Amino acid sequence: MESVGVPPTPCNFDLWYQHVSGANPELSWQIAASVDQSATITAAALEKLYANFLDPQVDEDEIAASAEGIRDAAQAVVDQVAGNGEHLRQYGNTLSQWTSRLGQNLTLDSLLHAVAMLSAETARASERNRDLERQLSASTARITRLKESMQDMKREATTDILTGLFNRRAFSARLRRALSEAKAEAAPVSLLMIDVDHFKRVNDTYGHPTGDLFLRLIGRVLSDSVKGRDTASRYGGEEFAVLLVNADLRAATTVANQIRAALEDKQLGKKHSAGGAGITVSVGVAQFRPAETAASLIGRADAALYQAKELGRNRVCAAQ
Ligand code: GH3
Ligand code: MG
Ligand code: MG
Repeated sequence: MESVGVPPTPCNFDLWYQHVSGANPELSWQIAASVDQSATITAAALEKLYANFLDPQVDEDEIAASAEGIRDAAQAVVDQVAGNGEHLRQYGNTLSQWTSRLGQNLTLDSLLHAVAMLSAETARASERNRDLERQLSASTARITRLKESMQDMKREATTDILTGLFNRRAFSARLRRALSEAKAEAAPVSLLMIDVDHFKRVNDTYGHPTGDLFLRLIGRVLSDSVKGRDTASRYGGEEFAVLLVNADLRAATTVANQIRAALEDKQLGKKHSAGGAGITVSVGVAQFRPAETAASLIGRADAALYQAKELGRNRVCAAQ
């Protein structure tokens, strides 16, 4: 990276990790093609490479893995250098013993001189290694900090700020992964598409900030309702998606009804009987069919949601 003037930012590390690991030959080719006459890659070219190859599907695990790889590599060098220092200390000891055995054939003065020189030399070499150790330990600490900042980035990039749920991008990544795992394990996966009923009216009646409070409330109810590997995401506006692994249509419909009922019970502002503001949701449920695409699964769950709206809202419909 240094040789072509690439600044060591998290994005650039990610790009370089993909390049050096050989995971993406097209990227490697484009990196080579982006080096200009002054043997550097411009910031604009780097931005474009990142946008083309990495941004649309930022894979958090890969970012973490790249940082992990850098840290491990540095740690390995630290261990090596530490081992080297130990060898040098042993070397110094051996030399002293060996020199003292030669005592019979030398004058005391020349012997002392030789020993002083040898041990001074050894001490200097050893000190140089200790400096290197210190520098490398500092690098390890720096890389650990880099890893932490990458993890923060990852959280920010995948979280919806209003509700704290996963955002649409994270949902897409999780859906892709869940579907390929479901195919491999021949296990069921189901999707709930949830849409708030007459939410426009809620905004019109109580104002947009209260509408936002309702969305937060839904976020809390959804994260309380999903466990383990299941995930709840804000799909957009007042629409949410819940991905249930190891759940068939029946089990998923039960979860959908629990969520629907839990939200029906919640009121904002005044307590229940006093007539606070409430909301309801409609839910479409679909179980993944191994031959279909993610888009088809979402489409079927959406169609079931539309049916729930048509049938009068505040209900769950399952796709056949
Ligand atoms: P339906 O039962 O058919 O779904 O009716 P609806 O009013 O919920 O549907 P519609 O699509 O007409 O309106 C959705 C509303 O959601 C409109 C939009 O202002 C509101 N909305 C979307 N995102 C937000 C948000 O982040 N905060 C708030 N307060 N409102 C939002
Ligand atoms: Mg909607
Ligand atoms: Mg709605």
